[in-house]
This record gives sequence, structure tokens and C-alpha cells, in this order.
Amino acid sequence: TPLLSVKDVTLQYKTPDALVTATRRVSFDVYPSDRFVLLGPSGCGKSTILKAIGGYLTPVEGSISLKGTGVTEPGPDRMMVFQEFDQLLPWKTVRENVVFALTSSRRVPASEAAERARSYIDKVGLTKFIDSYPHMLSGGMKQRVAIARGMAMEPDVLLMDEPFAALDALTRRKMQDELLRLWDDTRFTVLFVTHSIEEAIRIGTRILLLSPHPGEVKAELNSVPPEE
Ligand code: ADP
Ligand code: ADP
Repeated sequence: TPLLSVKDVTLQYKTPDALVTATRRVSFDVYPSDRFVLLGPSGCGKSTILKAIGGYLTPVEGSISLKGTGVTEPGPDRMMVFQEFDQLLPWKTVRENVVFALTSSRRVPASEAAERARSYIDKVGLTKFIDSYPHMLSGGMKQRVAIARGMAMEPDVLLMDEPFAALDALTRRKMQDELLRLWDDTRFTVLFVTHSIEEAIRIGTRILLLSPHPGEVKAELNSVPPEE
């Protein structure tokens, strides 16, 4: 049975002068240990789908369920990693950032949180920087911390929105290789968004190619949306 099921989902944004349809009746299933990639050009709705799975946006039609239960709000069972490097608390060290996430939202006891933080920070190769503050680190290193924190939460699915897009090509390649090895070992379930065909092929066990056009389907407010 699928871990995550997205069924006939339509997502819209209400702006002051229009309803923007970001995606229209998209369906897919993610199974345990999949590295499922949503691939498509900029503006095709990838981030919007990820946000809906994250629980930040409610579908206007269709359903999203995780382990058979409808997704209604954000939760630590679906950790998101974004493209930007500003996801860490600047007044906390690398270690404290991971521990804080675990104790505050997963309610993991302090001793276990400390051990998990140590272990996942080590997995991403940042043991030497465990007591550094985020501003001391390079962009690539900050992104590793954000990924370590997401994984330490041991979510049912790790949601990644172009996590390497802001990195230089060499760093990106290195992190792809390292994470692939790690995910193969740990059998993490990952839902990964990218506009890069090359990245999709490297990362993905399964790839869903999204049409470039659904985002262009717009309807004026108070009018009937166009049929397909
Ligand atoms: P992608 O992640 O594939 O680049 P997005 O999901 O960001 O695509 O965007 C899909 C469509 O929704 C685009 O047409 C975009 O302009 C529109 N959109 C995204 N965010 C908003 C928003 N907050 N308000 C209005 N329209 C948005
Ligand atoms: P990567 O993430 O692949 O290590 P980066 O571009 O993030 O690549 O950094 C390149 C290298 O520079 C790092 O591997 C690290 O050894 C070193 N480095 C970056 N930032 C720092 C820092 N704040 N202190 C010490 N070494 C650093």
C-alpha cells in the first residue's frame, strides 16, 4: 500500500484579481523507500504540490493522505527542506538547532535528542562543526544541517524543494552522491522537487513529469473556471 497518496488534486491561489490554478487533478502514489521526483519547468506547480503535502495549503478538489489518514495541517511526520539557506535559528549552534527541532515538535526526550543530533550531524559530515553557529558555515554546510535536522526528525517522508538549486555545481554533485548513499543505507522515503532532468535521473527511483501548462490556466474570480 502507498505511504503517501495524492489523488485528483487541484490547487489554487486566490489573488486580488484572479484565481490561479497551480495544478489540476494531479495523482500519484509514493511507496516506502521511494525517492519520488516531481520534475517539470519553473511554474508548473511542483512547489505548490509539496506545500499541500506539507499541510500548508488545502486542495480545492481531490485528497492527500499519509498512511491512510487525510493531511490537514503541517506535522513532524512530513519534514520539508527548502532551497534557501536561512532555515536555521542563528542564535543556536548546529547541534542545538537539531536538538531543538526534536524536543519541541517531536517531543523526543533530551538524552535521545542529543544522541540523534550527534548521529545525523555525523551522517552529513559536519561533526567538526557541531558547536558552530550557522553564520560560521558556508551555504552548502548550512544546507547539510537543514537536511540533517529534517532526517533526525525521522519523518514518514522527507519533502525536498530544490534543496541543491542554490549550490555551486561541484557542491551540488557531492551532496547528491552523499545523500544517495545515505538514503540507500537508511531507506528513507523522499519526495524531491526539481526542474533539472539530470538531477531527477540521478536522484529518483521514480519520476513524475509535470506539464508546463497547468499553472497558466487562470480564471477570473466569480467566473466559471475553463474545462479541460
Ligand atoms: P514550480 O514550483 O513548479 O516552479 P509553483 O508551484 O511555485 O511552480 O507555481 C505554480 C503556479 O502557481 C505558477 O503559475 C505560479 O505563478 C503560481 N503561484 C505560486 N505561488 C503563488 C502565490 N503565492 N500566489 C499566486 N500564485 C502563485
Ligand atoms: P561542501 O558543502 O561540499 O563541503 P562548501 O562550498 O560548503 O562545500 O565548502 C567548501 C569547503 O570549505 C568545506 O568542505 C569546508 O571544508 C570548508 N569550509 C567552508 N566553510 C567553512 C568554515 N566556516 N570553516 C571552516 N571550513 C569551512
